[in-house]
Amino acid sequence: MGENHRMTRQRRVILEELGHLSTHPTADELYGIVRRRIPKISLGTVYRNLEMLAASGEIRLVRTSGRQMRFDADLSDHIHAICVRCGKVIDMPGAPPSVQPGSMGPAGSGFRQIATRTEIIGVCADCHGGEAECEG
Ligand SMILES: [Zn+2]
Ligand SMILES: [Zn+2]
Repeated sequence: MGENHRMTRQRRVILEELGHLSTHPTADELYGIVRRRIPKISLGTVYRNLEMLAASGEIRLVRTSGRQMRFDADLSDHIHAICVRCGKVIDMPGAPPSVQPGSMGPAGSGFRQIATRTEIIGVCADCHGGEAECEG
């Protein structure tokens, strides 16, 4: 059994475990889970495989500002709501706005659009303790 075969199995396990989670784990978190099935796997290997899966469009990369990258195996149309306090990512139904690849940004900016990202930034129920926002 060669190196390539081993890599393929690792990638499959990573993809399977990510698919079981709706928590948008970081590479660290996923590493802890995948290690139960492949005890000898390294964090670097998990990270490399996640990058490969993201590059090939098999998983989604979730960038939360100032925090670690998170990963999502759910490729259906949805928007991410990100908590600024704990970094939790929650799925919201809805399709992100579509964009014509190659279309230009604001006139004169010289900015060529590739894609758009829509994220909802806020504070999750756990972090605001379920209190009403306007207490006067
Ligand atoms: Zn939170
Ligand atoms: Zn998601």
